[in-house]
Amino acid sequence: MFKFLWRKKQQHFSGGLILEGHKQVTAIEEPELPQELIYPLFLAAARYAAACVKVGDTVLKGQVIATADGPLSTPIHAASSGIISAIEKRLIAHPSGLSENCIILQTDGLDKAIPSEPCLDYQQQSREVLREKIQQAGIVGLGGAAFPTAKKLNSPQAIHSLIINAAECEPYISCDESLAITAAKEIIQGSLIIQHILQAHHCIIAIEDSKPTAYSALLSAATSSNIQIQKVPSIYPTGGEKQLIQVISGIKIPAQKLVFEQGFICQNIGTSFAVYQAIILGLPLTERIITITGAGIKQTKNLRARIGTPIKNLIQTCQGYTEHAQQLIMGGPMMGIALRSDEIAIIKASNCLLIDTIKSQTPQPCIRCGDCATVCPAELLPQQLYWYSRAQQWDNCAEYQLADCVECGCCDVVCPSKIPLVQAFRIAKGELVHKQKQAEQAAIAKKRFENQQQRKLKIEQEKNQKLEKRKAAIEKMKAAAAKRKLN
Ligand code: SF4
Ligand code: SF4
Repeated sequence: MFKFLWRKKQQHFSGGLILEGHKQVTAIEEPELPQELIYPLFLAAARYAAACVKVGDTVLKGQVIATADGPLSTPIHAASSGIISAIEKRLIAHPSGLSENCIILQTDGLDKAIPSEPCLDYQQQSREVLREKIQQAGIVGLGGAAFPTAKKLNSPQAIHSLIINAAECEPYISCDESLAITAAKEIIQGSLIIQHILQAHHCIIAIEDSKPTAYSALLSAATSSNIQIQKVPSIYPTGGEKQLIQVISGIKIPAQKLVFEQGFICQNIGTSFAVYQAIILGLPLTERIITITGAGIKQTKNLRARIGTPIKNLIQTCQGYTEHAQQLIMGGPMMGIALRSDEIAIIKASNCLLIDTIKSQTPQPCIRCGDCATVCPAELLPQQLYWYSRAQQWDNCAEYQLADCVECGCCDVVCPSKIPLVQAFRIAKGELVHKQKQAEQAAIAKKRFENQQQRKLKIEQEKNQKLEKRKAAIEKMKAAAAKRKLN
């Protein structure tokens, strides 16, 4: 798919690769309004939204069609006006080819929106109000993780440094770079709002040194603010949270520690733009920039696409597939997931659609070369983790710190045996989360049972005490009666 070079020396963080960029920065185009928009109620790992519309309802652009269902959930808003034609199971963007309940919106072509509530002076609003607005606008991390932004901005610990991630280190993807060129001022405003919410002393926008136009645009937009624009080396995966922090500050976040515990928060540059839109313009998150690229597509484009747009519509906007198209990947070549159909809709986390001309190769046995460990930026032992994952030895996976795998794909790329290591790690991570949830539920059930037993014991003890008291009173009465008789 692309060539890579081994890094000659350790620069800032361990492992990593220098990858061919294959990036084409294009002007952002608007695709045609699709006839149908599809919204899965499944958001990400065990996170769902709850539909608040029913079949036959008419909705306007920006209207909430599903509310947050749980602490790590976010609402979903209609990206155009129309009628809810169905709530039914459809294929969704998931590595296992999952079908989940989706709200289907038949657009009416009018694109009528609910009135927005702009706010020009965000500093007059409390940090809690700003966070709530971000939550109500349905904003999640747009770099691919899709973690609720309001939740991330509610750090239990003081944050000294906000890092806006514009590194975009994965090959082929150029949506953030295109956005930085066209909307640098808005990104700076969004970053200032996030900095204000966090009360962070520093705000740094990190961008790879291979993006001079975007760098200059951000630099001139940031002149009157205290935001620093910092170039970082074009090494994959510089855009990983821990790797980026290490590159910028020299601070290595220990394994099993979260970055906020060390006073850092990272946000994607697209998320900064979404925050600007939500707070200043009062607009919910209904669209995003997405790169459509790869040797299997006739024209590479960056599109401002409505969330919920079926992939086939975006493919059409790029003049369709080439005759060599073989594989459809959501995300980049390193971290993306292969999809089974272009009927699937894009979601908030969709930063790229890569149409590849190469099919995955048949894996061969591991030859224990150790290359995967050399390139791992998390300093893990991928070949060992692979053995444990295959053997379903989940405790060993946990002991070998599988949770620290950032799923960067470096090990996959260098593996001479073409073993799909990351795929195995994703499954194993899912199992670990499942096991942890089961353990938590078992602990809750145990606690509930113990509390019930204690309550029973207490009631029994109280009953016995009352009985004893009554017996003592009767004895006392009898003794008094006997005494009276004797007198
Ligand atoms: S995918 Fe995970 S194990 Fe493989 S190199 Fe990246 S962090 Fe290491
Ligand atoms: S790179 Fe592949 S073949 Fe080499 S040790 Fe790792 S898993 Fe085995």
